[in-house]
Amino acid sequence: MSNVKWLSNVRLEIGEKQLENGTVETLTSLFHLKIKNGKIVEQLEVSEHIPSGQEVLDMKGKLALPPFKEMHNHLDKTYMSLDWKACTPVANLKERLALEAAELTVLASTAQQRATTMIETLLAKGSTHIRTHVNIDPYIGLKNLEGVKAALESFKGKVTADIIAFPQHGLLRESVPSLMREAMRSGATMVGGLDPAGIDNAIEKSLYEVMDIATEFDADVDIHLHDGGFVGYYTTDKWIDIVQDANYQGRTALSHAFCLGDIPISQQEIVARRLAEQDVAIMSTIPINLGRVIPPIDLLDMHGVKVHFGCDGFYDSWSPYGTGDVLEKATRFCELTRKIDEKSLRNSLKWVTGGIVSLNEKGQKIWPTIQDDASFVFFEAASSAEVVARIPNKRLVMVKGELV
Ligand SMILES: [Zn+2]
Repeated sequence: MSNVKWLSNVRLEIGEKQLENGTVETLTSLFHLKIKNGKIVEQLEVSEHIPSGQEVLDMKGKLALPPFKEMHNHLDKTYMSLDWKACTPVANLKERLALEAAELTVLASTAQQRATTMIETLLAKGSTHIRTHVNIDPYIGLKNLEGVKAALESFKGKVTADIIAFPQHGLLRESVPSLMREAMRSGATMVGGLDPAGIDNAIEKSLYEVMDIATEFDADVDIHLHDGGFVGYYTTDKWIDIVQDANYQGRTALSHAFCLGDIPISQQEIVARRLAEQDVAIMSTIPINLGRVIPPIDLLDMHGVKVHFGCDGFYDSWSPYGTGDVLEKATRFCELTRKIDEKSLRNSLKWVTGGIVSLNEKGQKIWPTIQDDASFVFFEAASSAEVVARIPNKRLVMVKGELV
């Protein structure tokens, strides 16, 4: 029977051992997992015998971790699969957008090919869910959306996705509001937005337009917010009001939100409480920029705000860097914030798995459980902490019982 198989010798984290110096060590053990129709249906201790005559895939002691979620990407923008091209320096966002606009029509014809290469890269690194923004703009209309949709279609069963209609060149201009609605009717699954102050020059009008489109199509929202300082803070606060009024708790996110790092800590705490209450998530790409603070992720986390990491668009007209390994973002954040012990390294994995971790804060096993999808990233490692700190390059990705 092909829909039943066993994964033998799978290493799972099962708990932790307190050390005398107050730190902990992660305990693991080997198990045999029975997979039926892509789900885990039985778990045996390694000393128990797998019934004979069944298909067995020996995982040889590799550590199983939850698959990764790449929560901020731009599949339509990458140069991957084309000839090498570095970026042109610019003085500000407006100049960057002007350069992109000039290039969009040239790149649109290869959208599917470029997106496919990007998806292959992300999947090979362990991301089985991709949240992608896709340009909806006056230059190319819905062309990139068509390319990205076609690319994702060929990964059906392996990769799930959120496709965000993203008004990269402004929402409140020309035909963009109607193009956004056309995108929502044409396969986009979420509504995007961009800098209501810096780009649209009308904070409330821009935010209300985003929410109007979202409620019209019963879709979730993820807004790019680079506007800094008090303007960004005001925008965030206003968005939380709008979410509250629309009963849109748990359905919206703000990407980047650098402004949350600009304000005093007492104000960060107030806005963190409001974000948590209205379940507005924060997406960060943990950019390296010596001149720019990132949002206070640990403070947000402590207040119960959901935070997710993404690679962002990479190797495109915005940045020549990037590997497509979202795990690196967790590593980078730990390094930036000097998380060096087993427990804090281990806990950081949640920012790249959509919140799923093997052990809870008390060190008790909570993943995987029976009836979970048999979807994993396998590493030759002793624990989540080692994976976060050392970023092992060798990994195997499994989706619903099938290696990809
Ligand atoms: Zn972005």
